[in-house]
Amino acid sequence: MSTPPAPPTDPEQDRAWRERLSPEQYQVTRLSATERPFSGKYWDHHDPGAYRCVCCGAPLFTSDAKYDSGCGWPSFTAPAPDASVAEHVDRSHGMVRTEVRCAHCEAHLGHVFPDGPGPTGLRYCINSASLDFEAQADKPPPSSPPGDSSR
Ligand SMILES: [Zn+2]
Repeated sequence: MSTPPAPPTDPEQDRAWRERLSPEQYQVTRLSATERPFSGKYWDHHDPGAYRCVCCGAPLFTSDAKYDSGCGWPSFTAPAPDASVAEHVDRSHGMVRTEVRCAHCEAHLGHVFPDGPGPTGLRYCINSASLDFEAQADKPPPSSPPGDSSR
């Protein structure tokens, strides 16, 4: 008797994801689907705030790194400073790409490409369906210090 192969995902956990997530969110995050370009909530969304994992709430990206790449998906130059983003080599579809996943819950987020602007040169091309936007709290931005006493 050989030991049976481990199932790819725990069925209990899988059912919990199906209950919590919309069908599209489930397809994208748990089955590595890709939403249609220009179809998601956040590709043309420019409010200041944080983007969290739609599955587990982990911080992933911030609006500071978001830019308009014109590709139809939310694009970022880098993950948030405290983000838990894991990168994996993805050899599906006859290409070698770098897949981006949530390091906490393994949710598929999108891919990272080396054609981005700025110092990183990276484009994190992320599905809106993987993200949950949290608007910045209603307080003055830290860019205006109370006293101008720089020394
Ligand atoms: Zn997650």
